[in-house]
Amino acid sequence: MAKIFCIANQKGGVGKTTTAINLAAGLAALEQRVLLVDLDPQGNATMGSGVDKHQLSHSIYQVLIGHSTINQSKCPSESGGYDVVPANRNLAGAEIELVDFDHRESILKNALDKVAADYDFILIDCPPALSLLTLNGLCAAHGVIVPMQCEYFALEGLSDLVNSIKQVHANLNTDLKIIGLLRVMFDPRTALQQQVSAQLMQHFGDKVFKTIIPRNVRLAEAPSYGIPGVVYDKSSRGAKAYIEFGAEMIERIKTI
Ligand code: ATP
Ligand code: MG
Repeated sequence: MAKIFCIANQKGGVGKTTTAINLAAGLAALEQRVLLVDLDPQGNATMGSGVDKHQLSHSIYQVLIGHSTINQSKCPSESGGYDVVPANRNLAGAEIELVDFDHRESILKNALDKVAADYDFILIDCPPALSLLTLNGLCAAHGVIVPMQCEYFALEGLSDLVNSIKQVHANLNTDLKIIGLLRVMFDPRTALQQQVSAQLMQHFGDKVFKTIIPRNVRLAEAPSYGIPGVVYDKSSRGAKAYIEFGAEMIERIKTI
């Protein structure tokens, strides 16, 4: 049965999608069966996986409004070696359309239950908001991976996310926990980043992943080719870090 993880942080531009794509490709390179769900109307995980968001006949939007299944909506990421349930801007409408649905926060969970046996990992790329979409992700998941930059304001935003996760845990999904905080876009030459990193480890202990993702331009270039960074330049520092993170996740799920 698949372990299901949300990649979430309500702060924008912190590396959620880069983590989702490269963890998916990293796990696939380690021979895991992976499904990546794009839960963001921006469709960045879709494009970065080599799937054209402008040409979708089915997407996660149809799944959420009950017009299709995960199996009908998924497609292969040829470049990444995993499956994707794609998204595009249609998904922005789901938020309003779902208002009258019963159990509207559990729709994704119910849809993913039907394919969980087909995968080792299901990764959900969340939008930068604590919205109904993110709530669907949190209700469906066993745990949350929180990518963050080691900057001063990163810690401030974290308490909102931690509170939301606690509320979902208490009311909707008792499985849910923070799997770990992932330090991304890390530049060891910056004193502030070193300080924030040390603070994180002090507060969160072993909830901070051992792997650190460096700032690496190859990871930023790769999406424009529709290829995960891990595949685009295997020998880059960024690619190696995400493969290492994949291996850390495979170890980590043994304890979940
Ligand atoms: P949003 O909140 O809009 O969904 P996000 O949290 O998904 O954003 P990304 O899109 O993954 O963030 O990353 C934001 C930008 O930073 C992108 O241009 C991406 O290419 C770049 N980036 C992410 N990680 C790295 C890295 N390790 N090194 C260099 N650039 C990176
Ligand atoms: Mg994103």
